[in-house]
Amino acid sequence: MFKKILIANRGEIALRIQRACREMGVKSVVVYSEADRDAKYVKLADEAVCIGPAASAQSYLNMPAIISTAEVTDAEAIHPGYGFLSENADFAERVEQSGFTFIGPTPESIRLMGDKVSAKQTMIKAGVPCVPGSEGALPDDPKEIIRQGRAIGYPVIIKAAGGGGGRGMRVVHTEAALIHAVQTTRSEAGAAFGNAAVYMEKFLENPRHIEIQVMADQHKNAVWLGERDCSMQRRHQKIIEEAPAPGIPRRVIEKIGDRCAAACKRIGYRGAGTFEFLYENGEFYFIEMNTRVQVEHPVTELVTGIDIVQMQIRVAAGEKLPFTQRQIQMHGHAIECRINAEDAYKFTPSPGRITAWHAPGGPGVRVDSHAYTNYFVPPNYDSMIGKIITHGDTRDQAVARMRIALSETVVEGIQTNIPLHRELMVDAKFVEGGTSIHYLEGWMSQHKR
Ligand code: ADP
Repeated sequence: MFKKILIANRGEIALRIQRACREMGVKSVVVYSEADRDAKYVKLADEAVCIGPAASAQSYLNMPAIISTAEVTDAEAIHPGYGFLSENADFAERVEQSGFTFIGPTPESIRLMGDKVSAKQTMIKAGVPCVPGSEGALPDDPKEIIRQGRAIGYPVIIKAAGGGGGRGMRVVHTEAALIHAVQTTRSEAGAAFGNAAVYMEKFLENPRHIEIQVMADQHKNAVWLGERDCSMQRRHQKIIEEAPAPGIPRRVIEKIGDRCAAACKRIGYRGAGTFEFLYENGEFYFIEMNTRVQVEHPVTELVTGIDIVQMQIRVAAGEKLPFTQRQIQMHGHAIECRINAEDAYKFTPSPGRITAWHAPGGPGVRVDSHAYTNYFVPPNYDSMIGKIITHGDTRDQAVARMRIALSETVVEGIQTNIPLHRELMVDAKFVEGGTSIHYLEGWMSQHKR
């Protein structure tokens, strides 16, 4: 096992990784920007090094600063968390070339799956069903784009090959709007992701977002750790996740789960990963793979009892997976609410000082957050300030516990989306389970304030 790991991230996931390290007796080095100087997890780390100013480009995305910090602190491995450099194949490569272990898949896997076009092509070859769409990236010829649009049928969605975080997507309802939409998405994608390639997919009108968590070691073993339902989304971004997915027959899930594990073996995947699907009328359609730990990993941890972050570290150190597929047992139901510093209904960010913070507790409640009273939420990063996760024997119990947890939670000084979560936890359709990815959008327009 490693003696020391550098955590190349911030916020709740930096704290989560630090906790995993401590439990395993591994020392941790935290890198931080000037904006995160006062964060408590920075003070809790065995070592902490300031690597630059608030702007991510000069700190959390600054590869030379991160790698030289690993050098001077004698860290052996780098955990990238999610976001920032976690899915940057060049970073993974530079980490390994500098003699450190990258806690994640190989640069080749990241490259292959990081480009959504090559990811889809790989999945089609591996027998994983995909959303019907363009044959690879769209060409420049407008006539050909229009031909492909007709073949797929409207509505379609134009997506950036290098997109992420719900950005770089545009829905098109008519042929008249197609070419302009392709051009706009292309130039936005070029500016935001450094890759102007876009592709087209059938826009599914009523799907759910269901994803499969996988874990693979470096000895050709790969398993899947159940599914998550992440259909409750705002602006293509998840806000509530749960495991298992309500109302989908086990044999249907098992079939797709086994395909994902097989695809991992086929591409020589290592570490944690997620296959994301849209699920409509009993069918799964692959949309993308995330080659890193996900925000919503705790719901899987609570139903499987497996510590995903520790497992990432173990397989990166060369250990074999300590379980076979048959040994993975699911127990009960788990739900996660992402707590964002934002206006609950308009979603505008609300950074600033938290003047009062009280986290919930009690049976089946887990809180993953780096926030505390007097913590300043910097305006420079993602608005998520933590996650409340509840577990119960049944979905009803997990929901009931979430209602209690949300009622106990106090966050003052900034706005959060807790009021929205409170309403959704008593919404009849959510309580029934199985709502689609468009449900929240419709709900918002009916609950205008
Ligand atoms: P990102 O990498 O930005 O998260 P994804 O490809 O995972 O992008 O898509 C994010 C979300 O966008 C999905 O969960 C879904 O809500 C919506 N979406 C993506 N593709 C489609 C599609 N073909 N039809 C309908 N909705 C889609």
